[in-house]
Amino acid sequence: MSSPSSFPRQRAKKRFGQNFLADSNYAAKIVDIAEIKTGDIVVEIGPGHGAITRLLAEKDCTVYALEIDRDLQKILGETFSGTENVRIIAGDALDFDFVSLGEELGRPLKIVANLPYNVATPILFRLLEARCVIENMVLMFQKEVALRIAAKPGNKQFGALSIFPQLYADIRSELLLPPGAFKPAPKVYSSVLSFTILKRPRFYVSDELMLKKVVSSAFSQRRKKLINSLKKIDDSADLSSIFKGVGIDPSRRAETLSVEEFCLLANAFF
Ligand code: SAM
Repeated sequence: MSSPSSFPRQRAKKRFGQNFLADSNYAAKIVDIAEIKTGDIVVEIGPGHGAITRLLAEKDCTVYALEIDRDLQKILGETFSGTENVRIIAGDALDFDFVSLGEELGRPLKIVANLPYNVATPILFRLLEARCVIENMVLMFQKEVALRIAAKPGNKQFGALSIFPQLYADIRSELLLPPGAFKPAPKVYSSVLSFTILKRPRFYVSDELMLKKVVSSAFSQRRKKLINSLKKIDDSADLSSIFKGVGIDPSRRAETLSVEEFCLLANAFF
């Protein structure tokens, strides 16, 4: 591996959400949070210039570093050419097959990423879809997005972005980073969340697609009473008896329901 000071660098590309970590103390903290153990398989999404990758490589683990930017792939290839436990993968996290990688390797994956902010949410949802091969994830988001992911019911931040991650994982807020920790500096603070994937969803869900419909209808009109916002799912459904059956007051607003109540409601649509 080349020494950090000899890393070739490229100018940041906005379209790939490139804000590179410029403070190695934060990179070290992120790697500590991931609690890498001997033999672990770590997938780093968006290694960039390798600020986190370098520290992961020092652990007794194998790192798959998935980078979309061709210029960076080349630089990373040179930087880590002599580093046996780092493999650079050219690809897009939005269509990468995490499940096949996990199944091929026969070990659960640990995911580490300073996510590109422009696609952080779709990448999170893609990872949650692949949760059967994932043990835990340490992911950096812009602070406002992290607050929404970890928000509790009754909070204004609570919404669709909170429900699915909280259904599938235990989430902890780990670290807050100021704009000055990055180059170029973004306009906002960043937060690192850790996700420990649960063996099974926290609550029983009979049809995840139905849960998605209920959640998105409820929050698309979050000021409306639930009985009105859920009408568009199925206007022939007897919503009053659905609400009665699960013991939820139909005049409540979406943000007051717990994750469990959303699951009960979605299950009752059958
Ligand atoms: N990990 C580096 C660091 O902390 O300095 C770079 C983080 S930078 C915020 C995001 C990285 O993700 C960039 O290297 C960018 O090229 C890469 N990236 C952007 N979109 C991606 C995608 N869809 N799949 C994989 N990598 C992506």
